[in-house]
Order: sequence, then structure tokens, then C-alpha cells
Amino acid sequence: MALSDLPIRDDLRGLTPYGAPQKHVRYALNVNENTHPIPEPVARHIVESLAHAVLTANRYPDREFTALRESLAGYLSRDLREQQIAPEQIWAANGSNEIIQQLLQAFGGPGRRVLGFPPTYSMHSIIAAGTGTRWIAAERDADYAISPETAVRAVEQHRPDLVFLCAPNNPTGTALPLETIEAVYDASDGIVFVDEAYAEFMPKGQPTALTLLPGRERLVISRTMSKAFAFAGVRLGYLAADPAIADALRLVRLPYHLSALTQAAAVAALAHAPEMLAMVDDIAAQRDRIVAELPALGYHAWPSQANFVLFEGVTDPQATFRALLERDILIRDVGIPHALRVTAGTPDETAFFLAALAALPR
Ligand code: PMP
Repeated sequence: MALSDLPIRDDLRGLTPYGAPQKHVRYALNVNENTHPIPEPVARHIVESLAHAVLTANRYPDREFTALRESLAGYLSRDLREQQIAPEQIWAANGSNEIIQQLLQAFGGPGRRVLGFPPTYSMHSIIAAGTGTRWIAAERDADYAISPETAVRAVEQHRPDLVFLCAPNNPTGTALPLETIEAVYDASDGIVFVDEAYAEFMPKGQPTALTLLPGRERLVISRTMSKAFAFAGVRLGYLAADPAIADALRLVRLPYHLSALTQAAAVAALAHAPEMLAMVDDIAAQRDRIVAELPALGYHAWPSQANFVLFEGVTDPQATFRALLERDILIRDVGIPHALRVTAGTPDETAFFLAALAALPR
């Protein structure tokens, strides 16, 4: 039986699923994970919390994940000056992908449209398709930037129900000025969603979209513990927004969607935020090293505020991808002509990657 023989929804016919290759390699630099393991003392504390949670796993978990929301609100408030994020402003799910899905279930869906700015995170349009929301692609400026004027023009032309922004943008690493987010908000009357999966890798002290939340009840900002927090395997994403947004998501989430084990692990990890985030500066330094060294190999590297680098000037990306794979290095072909994306990892990983690339024809 082929997929096309099934009585599947017409709007899903011919689509391709998310498909980053999963291969066992020594140097896995393809999905922007944090390549540093969790520090052992922190892991021990997490395991103790999990043991407690298992003892009461005969009961459903706290549907409101109260302790977790408090921990996440405290974590986000840490870097904000006068402003605080309250637990009621937080919503969490199994990865920020599920956050995006719930958002589109509540505010998108059949007959509704979401505006995005490719090249951007591929799951934005894939989740739109899965929820029956029409994806509208708008153009970026030169160098993958989005100026307030460009964004507003697209919003005014399409009048979408939601606008999706990504800051810093995956797969390009491009920063997004807060002025663009403010201008999009003022120009639209729908949900303005900012995906800040990589916010912790931004330059220290640079304000994020969180500072724009007061007075903007249609603004939604998502974060994840998958990247800077080195917790991709646990699946914990979250958003900060007006408490009414959480009320909307309660209508579409499945009851008890966050398992007791997930909640326990995330609360324990958040109690060790400084240790969990200890590698962020080192990773940012490796990212900057990649950007600095690639030109000498004949490539153009885009400036990045995330934990990865997009580089152009690759004659045949698939050939380079395969040649690196033969050397046990997995990076990512994101479908941009003559470009590839590599995750910044440890100094050793960076050195191995750069040496392998230097040995290949461009
Ligand atoms: N947003 C962006 C921009 C991403 O790059 C990713 C992961 N690649 C995610 C969201 C999803 O992260 P998760 O579901 O692990 O929280």
C-alpha cells in the first residue's frame, strides 16, 4: 500500500515530512543541538526528581504544570531589567514545535493564513500544512534581513491571521531588529509570533522580543530548552505571552500533554540554569571562529547570532555534504542554492570540521 492509496486529506497529498537525516556519526553538526553533555551533578539531581515523579506516576500529571511555569517565568525574568514575566504568561509543551502546532490549532486552521519569511525554520510551513493553515511566503531584503518597511508591506498586502518571525533566524542566523517586530505588530491585527529558539546565543545584553510584551496582547514569543539548555532529548518548549493566549491554547491542547517525567526533569534542570547554560559562551566563540575562518577556505559565511553558521559558495552542496559524511561529519543541506549549514559545537568538532572542509574541493 502506498501513501497515495490511502484516503488521506487532499491538502496533505504530495507533501514531504520533516526529514533531517538521523545518522550515527562522530560529528553530528546538523540539527543545531548543544553538543555538550549535561554536567553529571545536574544529571544526578534530574534523576532524583524523576525517581520521585515515577513513584506517583499512577496519577495524571499536573495539567497546569504549575511548578514548571514558575521555574520558566523565573528563568525568563532573570535577564530582564525592570520587567518580570509572571507564571500565568507562560505556556509549555513537548518542544516548541508543539507550541507552534497548538498556536496554529487555536489561531490558524482551515480558511486562515499565516505569513512567513523564508528561508526560515522549515517546520513553520510544515506545521501550517498539518493544521490546514495556508502558508504565505513573503520576500526578505538583501542579506536575509527584514526591515520594518519590508515586513509591513507584506502584512498590508496579505492581511494574514498570523505572522511568523524567527529571531535569530534559522537557517541563516540573521538577527531581527525589534523595530521590525513592533512595526509588524502595529500593522496587523492578528497574532505576531516570534520564534526565539536561539535567543540565548545572541550577544549579551541585546534585548529580545520579551521586552516588547507589555501592552502587546497579540505578541507570542517561543523559547526552547533544546538548544542553549542542552535538553533536546527531553522535549520542552514554551512561550511567553498575555495570559489570555494560554487560555486559547487550553482549548486545543490534549489533557495532560506534559508528562510528569518531562515536568520533573525540566524543573530540576531549570534549578541549575547557570550550569546548564555554561557552554553557551564557548559555543558562540566556536560559531564566531567558523565565520572568521571560512572565508580563507573560499566560502562566504553569513554573520550568525545563533549556534550555527550558513555558508555559501559551495559548488555542489550534496557532493560536499556526502564527502563530509564519509569523514563522519553530518551537516545540513537546507535547500539554499550553493549553501550548507553547520552547527557550532566543541572546539574539537569545529577544528575537525574546518580541516575536513579545507581538504575538499570547493
Ligand atoms: N524553532 C526553531 C527556529 C528551531 O530551529 C527549532 C529546532 N530546530 C525549533 C523551533 C524546535 O525546537 P524544539 O521542538 O526542540 O523545541
